Formats: sequence, C-alpha cells, structure tokens
Amino acid sequence: MKVLVVGSGGREHAIAYKASKNEDVDVVYCAKGNGGTALEYKCVNVDISTKDEILDFALREKIDLTIVGPEAYLVDGIVDDFKEKNLRIFGPSQRAANLEGSKAFAKEFMKKYNVKTAKCEVFEDYGAAIEYINKCGYPIVIKADGLAAGKGVVICQSFEEGEKTLRDFMIEGILKSSGEKVVIEEYLEGVEATILSITDGNTIIPFISSKDHKTIFEGGKGPNTGGMGVIAPNPYCSEEVLREFERDILNPTLKGIKEENFDYCGIIYFGIMITKKGVYLLEYNVRMGDPETQAVLPLLKTDFIELIEASIDKSLDDIKVEWIDGASCCVVASSKGYPEKYETGHEISIGNVCGKVFIAGAALRDEKLITTGGRVLSVVCVSKDLDKAREAAYEDIKKINFSGMYYRKDIGE
Ligand code: ATP
Repeated sequence: MKVLVVGSGGREHAIAYKASKNEDVDVVYCAKGNGGTALEYKCVNVDISTKDEILDFALREKIDLTIVGPEAYLVDGIVDDFKEKNLRIFGPSQRAANLEGSKAFAKEFMKKYNVKTAKCEVFEDYGAAIEYINKCGYPIVIKADGLAAGKGVVICQSFEEGEKTLRDFMIEGILKSSGEKVVIEEYLEGVEATILSITDGNTIIPFISSKDHKTIFEGGKGPNTGGMGVIAPNPYCSEEVLREFERDILNPTLKGIKEENFDYCGIIYFGIMITKKGVYLLEYNVRMGDPETQAVLPLLKTDFIELIEASIDKSLDDIKVEWIDGASCCVVASSKGYPEKYETGHEISIGNVCGKVFIAGAALRDEKLITTGGRVLSVVCVSKDLDKAREAAYEDIKKINFSGMYYRKDIGE
C-alpha cells in the first residue's frame, strides 16, 4: 500500500512514522517532508507542495491513501479534488473545512446546533464594529474571520486596544482578506485543553485529551508560539469535564455534521476552555494539531491507518479505539530568536535518546540534520505516569544539541 502524507512539520513526521508501522504500508511519501521523514523507515520525501502537484503525483503514483496535515490544503478543497478523481483521501470536504476556514461560519454552526461557546457578534463594517466595542465591557476577544496562522486572535483589555485591532484587521489589512470580517467574542476565563477526534460523518470518536504550552517562556510568559510542548492526557480533563464536553460540544457537533450533510471523513480538533460555568468550545480545527499530534499519536494503541481507513469507509462504528494506559510528554526545541526572527543553518546532534524525536524545522544535507525552522524538533516520551514521562523527555532533550537551542523547562508542570 502506498501512503502519501501532505505537509512538512513535526505533525507530519509523527503521522508518517505512525503510518509506517502498518504492515500493509510499503511506502510513505512525504510532500514535502523534512529531515526527519527523510531518515524514517519506509518514508520517501517528494519535493512538491502545491495542490495540483500533489494531485498529479497521487494520480501518477497510484497512491492508495492520502493524509493531509495542514489546514490550508483542506480549506482550499484538496479533498474534493481528490474525490473527483476517485482517489482515497483523509480529511473534510471544502464545505466542512469552513469550520476552521471561517470563524464566523464556525460560530454560526455552533449557535445553530447548540454547541456551548462564548457569545459573539460578527461584523463586516468597521464603523458598526467600533460602535459595538464602545458599548462592551472588557476584556473582549477580537478574531479575524479567516486563516491567520495564530495571528488572528487578540484579547483586548480596553476600547483603545480594540480600536487598534479593528483598524489593523479591517482598515490596514495586516491579515489581508482574512481580517475583512471579524468575530467579537465574550472573554472566557479558565484552562484550555485540546481534544482531537475522528469522524466518518456518522460516528465521532474522541481521542485522549492533551494540553499545549503556547508561550515561549516558562509560566505562560512571553509571546505566543506554534506550541512549545504538550502533555497527554490533560490533567484538567476530569471525567466530569469529559462528560460535559461530550454532552455540550461533541454530540451537538456530530448532530450538526449530519444535518448539514457534511462530507467529513477526518479529524476534528476541539479547542476547549474549562471554566467555572462549564466547558466551552473556543474553536474547531479540521485537522490534527501541531504539536498535539506528536504527544497523542504515540499513546494510540489501535493502528492509525486502520482507523483512517475505517473513517473513509464510514465504518468507525465498528472500531474500538485503544490507548496505552499511561501519559506522554513532548518537549519542543526551538531556534535562537524564535518566535521572532530566528537563526537557521546549525547542525543538530542527537545522542542515544529513549523516546522518539520528531523533526519539524530541519533538513537533511550531506547526511547531517541542519536547522531550517523556528521550531526545530520535539522529543516525546511515554511512560506509566506524567511525572515519569516528563523526567524521561527532559533526560532525552539534554542529549540533543544545536547552536542556540532553546526549550521550556516547565512542560507539564
Ligand atoms: P488563528 O486563526 O489566528 O490561527 P486560532 O485559530 O488559534 O487563531 P483560537 O483558538 O480561536 O484561534 O484562539 C486562540 C487563543 O486565543 C486560544 O487558544 C485562547 O487562548 C484565546 N482565546 C480565544 N477565544 C477566547 C475567548 N473567548 N476567551 C478567552 N480566550 C480566548
């Protein structure tokens, strides 16, 4: 069986690695992959990245299954294009991918199907938005409607901050067309969690919960990054929280998917806020998270490819998803300067680690791994409890080095 993984980050390395474990899989092409997938068993990097190049490659090579990592391809309709050519692909149709591609669309869906979420108003007119925030209590949350790679959400403490954000998004166009429409949302106080899930449009199965660490510095300080580490399961996701999540978010979401007739065989990522007033949905993503994937997939006992095939065949109902009874800890190492302008071009040395290293921003050149990105790699350890997993991950990361390497010391604390 020939598998194609689309994307080139740490998430895609983890997906490719997991795919390679399936006995029926002969080769995992990675478009375009990275230095980690270049070295991975059964994996072959292919230097293509546009939707058309990927479709041509899949047709030419008779790829049996394509798995898409990044959201941009999904929002751009890669799944519809593949299906039109009778190619098997894992991910939502373009219409369903709007749940991530447009925050206004997602909020409308949540409202229609009673998914518990923060109250909000949507604006396309700058003047009307200003009038609205003039009457609001603070803080408020202003979100650009479209994809913004993490730069589209601003928590505003005052009218002045709100006005500046609206001007940046709607007048200056710093996020291009993504900021022409905005969602202005009630601020929720609580702790965040991620719950990935898999659906075939009829059944939805939640995965083990996880907790990302977004800021660059320890203790939630400094600017946000793509994610500096993850633990799974999330210690705040008690049984009660999970029950509420299922009742107020997961089940109503599935009802919506069915009633809207979404063609959705893929992953749904729930970003939730656990508050004193209950569990709220912050956002849907229509693909796996990065770096959540790197922490969650190593705990998955069930074969990932079998699970994906069951989703595409709409037989998830027959599958029991099993997890390792333990915890995982993923610590990300980044380049000097990240998340601002960062250094690249440094050689990475990796000693004898006991966990798994997933490469994100590094290329293989002359058989050496050379840094190319802000987040360079992560090390993931699984153990019977979180403390042991943390200990092992921090032992491992000491055996890894490149010039200017940085990592947070408090992942999972
Ligand atoms: P982008 O579209 O820029 O990629 P995103 O999709 O990650 O952003 P969200 O997940 O909706 O956007 O928001 C990003 C972060 O902002 C959340 O992880 C959370 O910390 C914070 N946030 C979002 N909505 C709220 C809210 N209503 N109350 C409090 N914090 C919020």
